[in-house]
Amino acid sequence: MKKSYKIEVDCANCANKMEQAAKKTEGVKDAVVNFMALKMNVEFEEGADPKAVMQQVLKNCKKVEDDCEIDL
Ligand SMILES: [Zn+2]
Repeated sequence: MKKSYKIEVDCANCANKMEQAAKKTEGVKDAVVNFMALKMNVEFEEGADPKAVMQQVLKNCKKVEDDCEIDL
């Protein structure tokens, strides 16, 4: 399953940090952040609950960049 989320982040460097943090989150198969579009596309593992996984993605992203936001 793939979903797209709107994000807030100040620069491409932080967007890249968010992408790395999202990719390492359990339940995430792949994540791609598009800084120009301020979008995060997430592919979930089979059977993962996107809502629960995204809460963790947001937490992990905030660890590497406190100023970021994901519209969940
Ligand atoms: Zn930044």
